[in-house]
Amino acid sequence: MTKWCQNPNCADKKSSGQIRGNKGNKWYQSNRIGTYSYGGGNFCTLHCHNEWSEKYMSQAIDALNSRIHEPIKVNLDDAWYVEYHYSWSSGTNNGSYELRNKLKGVRQTITREQAQTEEQRRLDYSEWRTINDTQAKELAIQLGLAS
Ligand SMILES: [Zn+2]
Repeated sequence: MTKWCQNPNCADKKSSGQIRGNKGNKWYQSNRIGTYSYGGGNFCTLHCHNEWSEKYMSQAIDALNSRIHEPIKVNLDDAWYVEYHYSWSSGTNNGSYELRNKLKGVRQTITREQAQTEEQRRLDYSEWRTINDTQAKELAIQLGLAS
């Protein structure tokens, strides 16, 4: 099924590519969603995404009953993450990995094997990928940095 840009004002852009019909009976119409899209496949351009957001985002948040009234907190024990430090010198990749928890003041150098999943290690040019924060916490426990 064809997907159309969800910005009700999309056709107001009046771009040449939006002209349809024949002489004497022409109109501008909304863009179809193509290969490139914005806002989860709902908008043709960032412009349309922004225009819709300005108009409807508050209503959308309220309609989903997902308005945040208190700040979301990540506490000390869940503040683990892995950081990749990019470093290329004389054609050699010297990238390094750190297990970090700024709230605990921990900065621990780890190996690529520890920093990545088996699949991430298998892929070429993905040395910058790292395990997720849940896995980082598990690693911290393994290494005796957390309990
Ligand atoms: Zn649009």
